Amino acid sequence: MTKNIIYFDNASTTRANEEVLKTYMMVNEGYYANASSVHILGIKANDLKEKAREQILSLLNLSSTHEVIFTSGATEANNLALKGYAHKYRNRGNHIIVSSIEHPSVLESARQLEEEGFEVTYLPVNEKGKVELESLKKAIKKETILVSIMALNNETGMDQGIEEIASFLKDYPKIMLHTDAVQAIGKADINYQDVDMITISSHKIHGLKGIGALLKRKAITFYPLLSGGGQEDNNRSGTYDLPSIVSFAKALRLELESFKKNFMYVKTLHDKLLAYFVENEGMYTLNSFSNNPYILNVSLKEKKAAVIVEGLSKEGIMISSISACNSKREASSYVVYEMSHDEKRSHNTLRISLSYENTLEEVDIFINIVDKLVRGIRR
Ligand code: PMP
Repeated sequence: MTKNIIYFDNASTTRANEEVLKTYMMVNEGYYANASSVHILGIKANDLKEKAREQILSLLNLSSTHEVIFTSGATEANNLALKGYAHKYRNRGNHIIVSSIEHPSVLESARQLEEEGFEVTYLPVNEKGKVELESLKKAIKKETILVSIMALNNETGMDQGIEEIASFLKDYPKIMLHTDAVQAIGKADINYQDVDMITISSHKIHGLKGIGALLKRKAITFYPLLSGGGQEDNNRSGTYDLPSIVSFAKALRLELESFKKNFMYVKTLHDKLLAYFVENEGMYTLNSFSNNPYILNVSLKEKKAAVIVEGLSKEGIMISSISACNSKREASSYVVYEMSHDEKRSHNTLRISLSYENTLEEVDIFINIVDKLVRGIRR
């Protein structure tokens, strides 16, 4: 089925790795008992879950400092980090800082908290799409309890320098730092040890959809979004999805083990694409200024992005006009708007997001077809 498809939409989701699927099937068949049951099958299932938890922490060098809360994905993890944290610790202060280019699961959680009486500061980004440390410094108040800034932006691929932000916030022990690391895991070499809460998601790293986690510093607890049987130390209830949990740990291991190799390889694809867009600056405005090779974003100067995405799709090439979570709501990228303040530019963005599964040959085919479509030669 996928033979003639060129899939350049890996920031939206990735194809599940076959090894990951095998693990899923194996756990599904061999460990079907409820991991909270006290009988021998339950204990075995629980042991496997705890191993997966430890593996995830150890792969990210967080074993001694952090714990894992499994969630249904990054959307839930982000909601928990913001609302669960703010509701729990509102007695410490009512001010929260987020960047203006966060994923909607962070932005909408912040807006909900605003409706409940929290004060939220939305940090601007510079023309490259990066939050400047200076603006964070200025936004901090004595009531600030939480800062949420993503590690790598999902539309432009801009690395937000979370290590530097974490190191700066060390002087503010009352302020917790959360990062949405969904797009950074396996794509950027980041040390998360000084970050208090980290959101990760399986389906962005060739794992399965419907499983994610919030990694949190041991002392932090949350006002739960989901109440019930009290799993995850009462921070999140619901029967454990063991096959998803174990296959998530596997996906993370595979992704991190080949990080360097994949990065260098994807960079060759990225550099070829970038060279094409730069050579043709009459047709494209570049929106990606990161060294990260996985996401490339350009605005079309004359043509409509939706038309080009549709044209490419008819040729079997899958890219996004704006992030998939947003594309049905409005045909405009708020991320590109925040960095450019240019309506036209934010209405016509193309995002090409790569994976180690892509090839140079695919890049050549893409360039050939997109060039004809944008020049209006091909319909
Ligand atoms: N954060 C970012 C940066 C994302 O790119 C996405 C997926 N579009 C999410 C959060 C939501 O992830 P999930 O699908 O696991 O809920």
